[in-house]
Amino acid sequence: QCAAVCPTAAIKVKTDMDKVWRSLYDPSKRVVVQVAPAVRVALGEAFGLQPGEDSIGRIFTAIRMLGFDAVYDTCVGADLTIMEEAKELAEKLENGDDRFPLFTSCCPAWIRFAETRHPDILPYISTCKSPMEMFGAVLKEYYKEKDAEEEKSTISVAIMPCVAKKMEAVREEFKRDGIPDVDYVITTKELIRMIRESGIQFDEIDPEAPDMPFSISSGAGVIFGVTGGVTEAALRRLVQEKSTQALRDIKFSGIRGMEGVKEALLELNGRTLRIGVVSGLGNADDLIEKIKSGEEHFDFVEVMACPYGCIAGAGQPFCHKVDKKERIDGMYRSDKAAPIKRSEENPVIYTLYNNGGLLEGREHELLHVHYAGAHAHE
Ligand code: SF4
Repeated sequence: QCAAVCPTAAIKVKTDMDKVWRSLYDPSKRVVVQVAPAVRVALGEAFGLQPGEDSIGRIFTAIRMLGFDAVYDTCVGADLTIMEEAKELAEKLENGDDRFPLFTSCCPAWIRFAETRHPDILPYISTCKSPMEMFGAVLKEYYKEKDAEEEKSTISVAIMPCVAKKMEAVREEFKRDGIPDVDYVITTKELIRMIRESGIQFDEIDPEAPDMPFSISSGAGVIFGVTGGVTEAALRRLVQEKSTQALRDIKFSGIRGMEGVKEALLELNGRTLRIGVVSGLGNADDLIEKIKSGEEHFDFVEVMACPYGCIAGAGQPFCHKVDKKERIDGMYRSDKAAPIKRSEENPVIYTLYNNGGLLEGREHELLHVHYAGAHAHE
């Protein structure tokens, strides 16, 4: 079934809402769901809340009322991404290969753009899967044993601000043994429809917490939803000094703000890093051309296809620029209120990586991806 997303119905996007509903009513299925960071500051607008108001707790409640078996926050996946991406950047800096920067990899529309327009830079794009795909792989692994014991199969759903995530979820690279790690992607707008269809009074329900054992995430994970957030989170992980002042220095380094292209210079372990933050594919195209011609040099470049980042994704309710600013401010407020600011301080992450945790020795298999075209240009 298709749902029109443009008034002329010229562009149609596949929706899996019916399949999700059917799974929810199927007793042989365990339906688990993750909710992306940017959804929390936009979904409430459809129910009379202010743009930027963090409604993640109510979203968890509403999702449970819809019948999902377990609800999780994709910020845990973002924390995983930071652990792996920061490691990759540190290794790249050590190896001294600095012709091209390390480009981020969490935005599937950016990956598609690079594959079609700049395939020669694919080897310089981080091999980290997106937070959605990292967490999807972890969830499928986590439920494997339980599924066998209870003779169930786990269906993994992701609530995303993004239409391109639907395309990412069905890519061959994100299937293991032919089965996708994320079965269905539902956009913020589609979740709003599901909540309305169920008659849930979103503005009247009380907030709830996500499920154990993935119930804790960091503020670094939250800010993935805004342009500059991935970079800020990675720098929090990489800088040796872990003080409040160090957090402030990163915050005011130039990576925050609504500009389509931002630059920052940052001291990292005795070296000055030049960092680029780009949102909007036109801006990315211009910057890549400058890097290729030698006019510009960066060590790290974050690219998000949507101007301002995922808070303004095509799966989010439409809003004007002033409300986008409110959504951005809302993301930073949520980060400010988070007791854990750095991904490596998240105990869930520690448990996954250590003492026989699910990821110990399996980081490459579960958290990294190699796009087919990347090797041809190495
Ligand atoms: Fe999706 Fe846009 Fe976010 Fe990219 S920036 S992941 S296209 S919402």
